[in-house]
Amino acid sequence: MAGNITFTMIKPEAVSDGFSGAILKMIEEGGFEIVAMKMIELTLERAGAFYEVHRERPFYSSLCEYMSSGKIIALVLRKENAVEDYRKLIGATNPDQAEEGTIRKLYAKSMQSNAVHGSDSDENARIEAGFFFSDLEMF
Ligand code: ADP
Ligand code: MG
Repeated sequence: MAGNITFTMIKPEAVSDGFSGAILKMIEEGGFEIVAMKMIELTLERAGAFYEVHRERPFYSSLCEYMSSGKIIALVLRKENAVEDYRKLIGATNPDQAEEGTIRKLYAKSMQSNAVHGSDSDENARIEAGFFFSDLEMF
């Protein structure tokens, strides 16, 4: 059965551009319940650990620098079929290919600065949620 939580971050430029409120509204109107939320700044090392699976990719160091360049908002979201439904709400990684009305289509600047993160599997959703939140911080 599909899992019911996913993990997301509102990325630095979306926060600094003032899109957090609009993105949170889309998340709630999309039927996702916020079960954990915090604003934090990642160190370069911690961003590197989060994106460890991409270590060999050419964009890895640039991505880690970007993700540690300013405040982010990390959230755990609950909904039936959360991972897949949230990927639909955010749209394709490349905003040029994201569908109309998706978060990335509306708020992404580029492939790297693409407004939000979204987990790609139930297992990774649990790992990523645990990277940012203790059990006591998830409701
Ligand atoms: P997604 O976030 O859609 O799951 P990936 O897991 O493939 O995408 O990549 C993680 C993040 O790395 C993306 O959200 C994006 O910020 C960045 N990224 C991916 N591919 C590229 C690329 N070709 N050039 C620059 N940044 C990229
Ligand atoms: Mg991914």
